[in-house]
Amino acid sequence: MTENECRKLAEELFPDIDATPEYYAEFYPERALPEGAQVTRIAPSPTGFIHLGNLFSALADERIARQSKGVFYLRIEDTDLKRKVEGAVEAVITTLGYFGITFDEGAEMDGDKTYGPFYQRQREKVYKAFVKRMVAEGLAYPCFCTAEDLDDIREKQREQKLTPGYYGEWARCRELSYKEIRERIDAGVPYVIRMRSAGDGTQKFTFRDSIKGEISVTANNRDEVILKSDGIPTYHFAHVVDDHLMHTTLVLRGEEWLSSLPIHLELFRMLGFKPPKYGHHAQLMKLDGGTKRKLSKRKDPELALEYYRKLGYHPLAVKTYLMTLLNSNFEEWMLKNPDAPLEDFKFSIGKMGQSGALFDIAKLDDVSKTVISKLTGEEFYAFLLDWANNYDPDFAKLLADKTYALGVLDLCMGAGKKRRKDFICASQAKEVVSCYFDGTFAPERDFPLPPETCKRILTAFLASYDHSDDGQAWFAKVKEIAASMGFATDMRAYKENPDAFPGSVSDVAEVLRVAVTGHRNTPDLWSIMQLLGEERAVGRIKDCV
Ligand code: GLU
Repeated sequence: MTENECRKLAEELFPDIDATPEYYAEFYPERALPEGAQVTRIAPSPTGFIHLGNLFSALADERIARQSKGVFYLRIEDTDLKRKVEGAVEAVITTLGYFGITFDEGAEMDGDKTYGPFYQRQREKVYKAFVKRMVAEGLAYPCFCTAEDLDDIREKQREQKLTPGYYGEWARCRELSYKEIRERIDAGVPYVIRMRSAGDGTQKFTFRDSIKGEISVTANNRDEVILKSDGIPTYHFAHVVDDHLMHTTLVLRGEEWLSSLPIHLELFRMLGFKPPKYGHHAQLMKLDGGTKRKLSKRKDPELALEYYRKLGYHPLAVKTYLMTLLNSNFEEWMLKNPDAPLEDFKFSIGKMGQSGALFDIAKLDDVSKTVISKLTGEEFYAFLLDWANNYDPDFAKLLADKTYALGVLDLCMGAGKKRRKDFICASQAKEVVSCYFDGTFAPERDFPLPPETCKRILTAFLASYDHSDDGQAWFAKVKEIAASMGFATDMRAYKENPDAFPGSVSDVAEVLRVAVTGHRNTPDLWSIMQLLGEERAVGRIKDCV
């Protein structure tokens, strides 16, 4: 086609598109941001499935943008969606919001009035202005190949052991004349628009990835589809236009996108745009029977972020753990600054790992225990109540007596240096505290001594019990009972000659503990009985007798 024919064809293919690339350049001007400010985004497809990888990327993006006084925005990449997934965008926003990730701009926000709209499906006209220009310049062309034609090409390439794809001499529609194109369009043959790649499949260049460093890339040579037959652009094209017009400076994304990077870089060049910096991060892995593999949507429920909300992991715990995977020096920083907010840490892309980080739930649990141990009773109570309101209304009812619930939490968490690290997440905390609430107290009493002995201990204990005794007086009575029944009260003597006794005072105390709480391991038993109140504590012992 001649230059004139290209321009004519562009007008004929897009008669309604008046706005030019220059118009959009002015419409979406440079952002007025301080020197060095980074503009980052997450650009999920609204499938309704929000996973750990999304949060992993979002956390890095958010840190980099906020730290540099830049902008972090949310773009919804819905070009591939046949159907709208109801509630999917809200799910992205609320789920990430739960983990403390908020946006400065983007879908469902006021920012829509500046660099938006942030739904790709609402930007059809914008993309078409750029496609139109590419056609006019001979950089893109209509392709009428059917699915069968493409299968045929692929089959022949396979026979000849060639790389599959629409390129070079295989790109059948590349050299169609203006007349041939016109005839097909007039006959109503559906078409897509493809980019006309300048590559021949041999050129290589080096590319500096913000995470992986220098990598060698083979230049693109495929005439990729940029506009589908329904007039919707492909991801490749739409994201290039958007990242340019929204002035993204850094794109962090999973390394599964690395293979299409050459296409993207060629599109940036064809459109005359300066590409943003790219950082491709490795995917999260898990250890499965000794081998490392990617977390999978099908096999691993823990990939979904909903998993953590349902179990009631504290958002700060998940975030803190992900930070340890994101930046190799984060853990060391945390040890030095145990009480500093996570935002004080200087996040750096250079410290992001190049190989797949191992996601280990046991480590998350450890981090969670520490994070929860640093909450005040009030904070943990508010968190538990919120979780229970959403996921366990019966438990929420038990928590309604705030003073009592706080007493339970204070007791379980311990104070000062004795702060315990027993809580991992809300659902597990419910298990731990269930014995303090009649509504959930369902003991399987596994006593350490024979039933007859237990009965004697419990009866003696009830006979001498005075709820107003302090801890010392209380223990003195337990000791007395132990001694009267021949149990060792001197631990050293017991250790030296254990066979001389039926057991020690701690076995006697354990019998009481099991009777009152159903468990062998609990915080201080006297404090528990005070908390439960006389009636309930004594009642539980009587039930056992
Ligand atoms: N829409 C792509 C996804 O769903 C975004 C990739 C990118 O960040 O460029 O992962």
